[in-house]
Amino acid sequence: MYDYIIVGAGLSGAVFAYEATKRGKTVKVIDKRNHIGGNIYCESIEGINVHKYGAHIFHTSNKRIWDYVNQFATFNHYINSPVANYQGKLYNLPFNMNTFYAMWGTKTPQEVREKIAEQTQHLQGIEPKNLEEQALKLIGKDVYELLIKGYTEKQWGRSATDLPPFIIKRLPVRFTFDNNYFNDRYQGIPEGGYNVIIEKMLEGIEVELGVDFFEKKSKWENQAKKVVFTGMIDQYFDYKHGELDYRGLHFEHEVLDIDNFQGNAVVNYTEREVPYTRIIEHKHFEFGRQEKTVITREYPADWQKGEEPYYPINDAENNAIFAKYAKEAEAIQDRVIFCGRLADYKYYDMHLVIERALAVVEAEFTKS
Ligand code: FAD
Ligand code: UDP
Repeated sequence: MYDYIIVGAGLSGAVFAYEATKRGKTVKVIDKRNHIGGNIYCESIEGINVHKYGAHIFHTSNKRIWDYVNQFATFNHYINSPVANYQGKLYNLPFNMNTFYAMWGTKTPQEVREKIAEQTQHLQGIEPKNLEEQALKLIGKDVYELLIKGYTEKQWGRSATDLPPFIIKRLPVRFTFDNNYFNDRYQGIPEGGYNVIIEKMLEGIEVELGVDFFEKKSKWENQAKKVVFTGMIDQYFDYKHGELDYRGLHFEHEVLDIDNFQGNAVVNYTEREVPYTRIIEHKHFEFGRQEKTVITREYPADWQKGEEPYYPINDAENNAIFAKYAKEAEAIQDRVIFCGRLADYKYYDMHLVIERALAVVEAEFTKS
């Protein structure tokens, strides 16, 4: 009999397992995949840590979370500075003075402001109802058409007029020559890849891989006082309120017999006609000097039940379904804790996943 059975050896499950063990509790972690780490798992290929489920860059402004994660790994000085390729021409991201120079030849913030004002004036005072309106109001039609529309529509598989405005609000717009994709105070890649973190969190903890919780649900439930569930919340409740939708991804990994393919870790392909959204060259995350290189093309795809669910689609319809499951979860909170990107159905970055897991830990262990 364990205190906790933890379903999922991703970041959420690993943080909970580590914290519970530290408090003297007995835990067992299970995962249906044959490796730990969930979506932050890296596989070493040609001596390069390949981010198997998409590029992962750690960033946060929360010092507590930064200090927390630094217990488990040393972070390097990598700063994410993706480049966008539109019809063979390159533009720096996020949208900044370098991008505007490449697009318009503008050299000063004043010139850029005038150019953007020209293209956005007619939309001021309008509350954007969708992503297209939000982007046009924020940055104008040139940037929207070259760098946003095609990428966004293939990424999400629907028209930008059918997407919520908040998605694009993640991206900074700057009037400085600063190519840092994030505004956060802290950023980097763990030296040795993300497995270092998860391995350290799960050190000495019993982990069973290749087992699907749902195949023997009652067996697992009978083995522990409580379950921590980090999988899909709709699946846990047998889809009784309907199925939540996700965006899928396919990754095509390739080893190349050259030492440097694109000179940058991330290159986005922003035109609609190119079927992938980006090419990742993994060695650049860790300033690798290996003889070969590994690249990954990332293809967005419609998601089918049974495939890996990557991005929750937080539109009104799905959020309403989720709210019903959240209510069910509340009713059984003395037996099951729901936590993580899939159980909370939220587009969490890693720092938010850690923050959420630590909040769950705090609530669990400060109870009377
Ligand atoms: P997961 O990593 O999904 O782990 C859940 C685990 O539960 C999985 O291993 C799964 O196999 C297991 N599981 C599910 N159901 C069952 C079951 N029935 N039985 C047994 N096991 C089960 N964040 C950033 O901060 N920076 C980035 O640059 C970034 N890039 C990203 C790029 C992509 C393409 C994606 C998809 C996400 C990205 N993220 C990024 C987000 C990051 O991946 C997540 O925040 C984090 O991995 C979530 O951890 P988790 O443990 O909640 O979920
Ligand atoms: N985006 C874009 N062009 C780009 C990169 C991003 O239009 O070159 C938009 C797109 O809608 C995407 C959103 O910005 O979904 C958020 O981008 P981010 O890089 O944060 O996405 P993620 O890391 O979650 O894949």
